Amino acid sequence: MSIIHSSISAIAVTMLCLLMYSSCQSPTVTRVPAPSQKAKAQYGIVIHGGAGTILKKNMSDSLENAYHQKLKEALTAGNIILKNGGSSQDAVVAAIQIMEASPLFNAGVGAVFTNKGTVELDASFMDGATRNAGAVGGVTRIKSPILAARAVMEQSKHVMLTGEGANQFAILQGLDTVDNSYFHTPRRLKSLQRAKQLEKKDNSSIINDEIKNFKHGTVGAVALDKNGNLAAGTSTGGMTNKKFGRIGDSPIIGAGTYADNQTCAVSCTGHGEYFIRYAVAYDVSAMMAYKGTSLMDAADEIVHQKLVKAGGSGGLIAIDANGNVAMPFNTAGMYRGFMMDDGKANTLIYK
Ligand code: ASP
Repeated sequence: MSIIHSSISAIAVTMLCLLMYSSCQSPTVTRVPAPSQKAKAQYGIVIHGGAGTILKKNMSDSLENAYHQKLKEALTAGNIILKNGGSSQDAVVAAIQIMEASPLFNAGVGAVFTNKGTVELDASFMDGATRNAGAVGGVTRIKSPILAARAVMEQSKHVMLTGEGANQFAILQGLDTVDNSYFHTPRRLKSLQRAKQLEKKDNSSIINDEIKNFKHGTVGAVALDKNGNLAAGTSTGGMTNKKFGRIGDSPIIGAGTYADNQTCAVSCTGHGEYFIRYAVAYDVSAMMAYKGTSLMDAADEIVHQKLVKAGGSGGLIAIDANGNVAMPFNTAGMYRGFMMDDGKANTLIYK
């Protein structure tokens, strides 16, 4: 009983201090720290490989196994870095690069085709310690877009570079470049052909079967390192049959990616237009910062309530400074996984 009383009075004193502090600080907005929790893990990494209508009945055992193996490989690459005291930034890049190099995902090799039959890639990266960030949009020749996004953060005065300028910047940074055909796969070509056929029947130029079926495949990673630093990254080919230089949420800081050591690191996947309009990645962080909401509750409310109400399909992965993990999605499935300081790789696909 006395323990309860003393915790209640401790909470009351804290609230009073916060109120007094905020009244002296006006007109700035007071950040209410998230309720202090016992650390779940000292370090950890969480990844996704896209959300969509991913159903067991449409998946062969060997394909399912291939997804689990690749997710495990990406988690392990990131986790080794964290275990050895490396940074969350390095872990995020390592995990994403493995998925970019795999044709299973819509990022790097195996990215979806634009209406012109080319591949245009988007990626972003954010450091939670400094809130520095970098992004590239519509790049066509950079082998690893996530590396380019990090280079924009570290080597330029800017946050986002697009198109040919971004290609040129990456070349100047000495990053590997490839012919656009390096990214092409027969599976994605078929999706483009299907999307174009469907478009002929359906007059709306933007709707295509990828959107209808919500088969996305963007990749992302968030990590917490032993120094308590958070980082987030996202990489994608965007949406099949995209036109006119369309760019989605993935390279938009605050929409597809966000990281702040005070709150959390987030990477999103889904119908990008909704994630931009609802500033989804930042919204998770903002709910934690301004309302003191827990990571789980913030992520759930946004994905299962706000986005569902708006009609936005997809999901997100997030980790906070205490090693809490959230992976909500409002689609049938989301390729996802996490690996914390216990060294156990957990990979999941369906609900
Ligand atoms: N969010 C990505 C975009 O809209 C697509 C995805 O996540 O699959 O470009």
